[in-house]
Amino acid sequence: MQWFLERINTPTLPISFGSGIKLKYPGDFSKLMKKGVLKRAANLSETECGHCYDERLWQIREDNGEIFYICQNGCGKLILNDEDVAIFEYNDAKFRQLLADELGLKTSGVKPRDTRYIGQYQGQKTSAKVFYLRTNEESVRDGDLGFRPRVLVSNTGTIGVDEDDVSHCALSEILAPSSDKNIFDKTAFAKCISHVGRPKNKPEPIKIKVKSVRLDGRLLIINNGQETISFNSTNSEEREGDIPASKTFKVFNLLWADHYEMKDRAITNRNGKMTSAANLMRVGGIPTRGALYKQIDRINARFAEKGLKIKISKGEKCKLTVYFE
Ligand SMILES: [Zn+2]
Repeated sequence: MQWFLERINTPTLPISFGSGIKLKYPGDFSKLMKKGVLKRAANLSETECGHCYDERLWQIREDNGEIFYICQNGCGKLILNDEDVAIFEYNDAKFRQLLADELGLKTSGVKPRDTRYIGQYQGQKTSAKVFYLRTNEESVRDGDLGFRPRVLVSNTGTIGVDEDDVSHCALSEILAPSSDKNIFDKTAFAKCISHVGRPKNKPEPIKIKVKSVRLDGRLLIINNGQETISFNSTNSEEREGDIPASKTFKVFNLLWADHYEMKDRAITNRNGKMTSAANLMRVGGIPTRGALYKQIDRINARFAEKGLKIKISKGEKCKLTVYFE
């Protein structure tokens, strides 16, 4: 089933499969057909000659129930069977439904237009909203970010780093044995996300309630000086203007310009905006998305170390949020 997960990990729909892949993975294919995830959509209109393997394509014709093509390369008329010409199409809605069924999610709040939210997980000690991100490029919509704890399900790789209340699970890690009637293993899924919503075993830093925060040059000042975070690479703050800003500061500064402020789970400022990862990479001179995420992780770690509830979320679009108490 790995082949299938890799195959649907593509940004654009529709995704089609030919009969070649059906012959290669007959067991997986029939499971997917039975569940409605793959459906016969059309017939091939032309084919290479399977006899001489010439590169040219010949038109497929049908006459009196006989399907054939004529190879002009000398092979003449060649008969095909119905299965040879079938094209199958992936049905995303059906796949999300299958995930909800097999992972044991409650789908009462799921709307037909939801392309990511697939249901509510209810474990013995934990409960979380579950999102399916079909491609590694996707991130959760802004409005969804408020849902914690949450679980992000991807096809083959994890999308980000596990946090206390965000868990990642790759479907390729929780496949059921091929003899099973299901494609995914519910128990493996529960195990994969078992830590979500539970604090990890590490000492909690002393928590600082954020009452005020301002950026002075490259110094972030919390509660009028109770705590500071410096984005200078050296300690000589008086010469700040002469020292080129670090990549970390460039990233932070851009996010800061449009940061969100929250209190009691509500946004309290009007000028908060998301910043695209592409823009952050450009301004910070950072070549890859992975390198950008590392920078963000580093900044988040500095806030967490000091027990500050200030956090940058990662994705196609990123944002910085200050949580006031
Ligand atoms: Zn031929």
